[in-house]
Amino acid sequence: MDPPVVRLAHCQKQIFCLSVPGECPSCGEDLRGSRLQEAPVSLPSPFSNAHKTSCCLLVAPAHNNTSREFDGTSDLHTGISNTAGVVYNYTCAGVVRDHSGWERCVSVPLVRPDMFHLLNQWDQYLQNHSEGPSWDPAWHRFDEEHHNCLSFCLSFVNSVLAAEGRVALSRETFTQNFILPRVQRVQKYCFLYKHLQTHQYYLVDRQEDRQEDRKEDI
Ligand SMILES: [Zn+2]
Repeated sequence: MDPPVVRLAHCQKQIFCLSVPGECPSCGEDLRGSRLQEAPVSLPSPFSNAHKTSCCLLVAPAHNNTSREFDGTSDLHTGISNTAGVVYNYTCAGVVRDHSGWERCVSVPLVRPDMFHLLNQWDQYLQNHSEGPSWDPAWHRFDEEHHNCLSFCLSFVNSVLAAEGRVALSRETFTQNFILPRVQRVQKYCFLYKHLQTHQYYLVDRQEDRQEDRKEDI
């Protein structure tokens, strides 16, 4: 497991690092003897193991991207987990049910834990949906742009919303509200992480850290 990113504050700086330094990288003061303005905190990793999730939308780098990184350039692949962490995802071969391979991805919970009636039916809904003709390669061809993994997830979410008597989401709303904010958070985290692996520290002025650079939010 990668060590977590640690954030601490000293001399008007936010300091991000992978291990707490002996002295402040900004002012050089010995940190062991001095009092920090706030205790160092570990930032939670933005990644989830999909196979330990239940009823989530999942986003991972596409399989054809060998580096499997969220670097902002790779294609992303999406899927939906059942209550046992099996990831249903639509590919050119139809819907596949993955028991592994989604250990490092972004997860978006789709069901509140108190929605018991929905939780009880989730696996059946997902199974039925994945058996529909839209996802059967004999009936419908996978299309990179218009009939892809996201179409499968969105139409599933909309079928659940319809069963709940709620309004359908457009592809744009679904992407903008559910997927992009989390993917951007992961991309920032990965960028910061790469930086720390080569440069050891990332410093942000504390006065500015609420405005432009919101790295403390990740
Ligand atoms: Zn300092």
